[in-house]
Amino acid sequence: MTGALLVAPAASATPEGSRELPKVPVAKGYGGAVVSDTVQATQAGLDVLRRGGTAADAAVAVAAVLGVTDPNMAGIGGGGYFVYYDAKTRKVSTIDGRETTPAAGDQNLFINPATGQAYPFADAVTSGLSVGTPGNLAVWERALQRWGRYDLDEVLKPAIRVAEQGFPVTPQLRKEIEQNQPRFKQFSSTAALYLPGGAPPAVGSTLRNPDLGKTYREIARNGTRAFYGGTIGRDVANAAQNPPLASDATINPPKGKLAIGDLRSYRTLDQAPTHVRYRNVDVYGMAPSSSGGTTVGESLNILERFDLKKAPRDQALHFYLEATKLAYADRGRYVGDPKFVNVPTSQLLSDSYAAVRACRIDPIRATPAPVAPGNPLNPGDCTPPPPSATPTSENEVHTNHFVVADARGNTVTYTNTLEQVGGSGIVVPGRGFLLNNELTDFNFTPTQGTAPDPNLPAAGKRPRSSMSPTIVLKDGKPWLALGSPGGSTIITTVLQILINRVDFGLSLPDAVAAPRATQRNTPAVTAEPAFITANPLLARYGHTFTEQAEIGAAATLEFTDRGQILAVGEPTRRNGTSAGVVHPVR
Ligand code: GLU
Repeated sequence: MTGALLVAPAASATPEGSRELPKVPVAKGYGGAVVSDTVQATQAGLDVLRRGGTAADAAVAVAAVLGVTDPNMAGIGGGGYFVYYDAKTRKVSTIDGRETTPAAGDQNLFINPATGQAYPFADAVTSGLSVGTPGNLAVWERALQRWGRYDLDEVLKPAIRVAEQGFPVTPQLRKEIEQNQPRFKQFSSTAALYLPGGAPPAVGSTLRNPDLGKTYREIARNGTRAFYGGTIGRDVANAAQNPPLASDATINPPKGKLAIGDLRSYRTLDQAPTHVRYRNVDVYGMAPSSSGGTTVGESLNILERFDLKKAPRDQALHFYLEATKLAYADRGRYVGDPKFVNVPTSQLLSDSYAAVRACRIDPIRATPAPVAPGNPLNPGDCTPPPPSATPTSENEVHTNHFVVADARGNTVTYTNTLEQVGGSGIVVPGRGFLLNNELTDFNFTPTQGTAPDPNLPAAGKRPRSSMSPTIVLKDGKPWLALGSPGGSTIITTVLQILINRVDFGLSLPDAVAAPRATQRNTPAVTAEPAFITANPLLARYGHTFTEQAEIGAAATLEFTDRGQILAVGEPTRRNGTSAGVVHPVR
């Protein structure tokens, strides 16, 4: 590690010598690349890369700036999964920074003791009870230890500057605050920061967050222990246990159980990635506690049994929708935190299991959903079982995903989140950041009938995630890095981009921009209107659709044959994302 100064204090939010970045969804060039939700975060990452930082250094700078400029989706109040390709060892590694359940929690975490019934979902969301021990800051520290050149205090500097000097409110940020206004006004600390004068800040106005600047400075000075057991940690626990209700609050939220001891004992996990070989590439993803790697991987293994390239497009898409139906049934039955439940990860990802699952797909007819899970430990033959599972619904709101590569080919794909847009709605008083509501990713009550539910709360347990940060190697070298927000739709967004690129041969920008559909073992497919219009023949297979305006917001990279990096975000979803490269070419 070096202690070199990365960024000189500057009068504007752009450090001296670097040009203001235009907000574009696609950039091409050399020397490293970043795709993230905001211009300031992409800019910060590119600046770190220009100064010789690794992809890990740049990623931490990006994540910290997103805590300021994308505050409803990112920051030290949340958790996430960090996937890294190390060009030196040529290996993909991951860090699990998922939130954990407080030690005082158990299977009845979301059961109201007064009624013996589960709290209504919406009541649990906007409460301290949903706050898990945040993992993001520990991920940043671990990533720098393993792959960084810089210390945390250096890579926090751009975020401190943006927090203190402010940044222009985007239409997207304004929209998110507006949608959250009924929740945000319940808490005095949140209203003070995000509802200045009682209303969401105007588009183009400058939003400053000096409290967060101070918090980052304290972390830079005293290290992450200020958070994981120190003064910041005490404020976090206190905010979860006694949220600062506004004098005119209309809610009486259940109190949280997060304690300073939970922060003190929080640890990230270094984990092996999941791996499947798909056609001629190797796909690496996030192992449980996320269901991303197993569900993307199982779906790919099932799809590999069909020739998607040769099949008519409508039939290829039918296979895509049917494959995920099966994989989601297995996800629901088998995937949870592996410290608490026996997750059959390798069996779920085996080709022999995929063969049995694939033969349950009728090539011309959609199987009525929900379909039952299979048995990866004893796959049996191809006889389709009668559908038996009960439909479950999952909220599908947003988080953030970004990708970074440096000139050496080190690559980061990092999905992190507060769970809901705006998390629990609780800004830690005096600290300038929102707390997550990640524990609502648990099932509040059992969902698997007589079979055990792998995703019920327990002390210290991580709720099952769908986050799917993914790295694809071709001939042993990085080819693609991708991921997306979108709750349980994350898995299908990643999958759809992969088959668009690998099987349908679309360019990466087209693969990302293409209309999306997601089948998560529900009676109807959820799809963007353009997908439904473009694929009228799918109705003939028996697929029915529920419209959703937007699914996901991907951030992706491709290393091209010519040694260039293609950085690709969203042209329109979530009002467009911000791609940049260190040395652009046309
Ligand atoms: N909490 C979600 C998960 O871990 C991510 C947040 C979202 O995108 O909705 O799967």
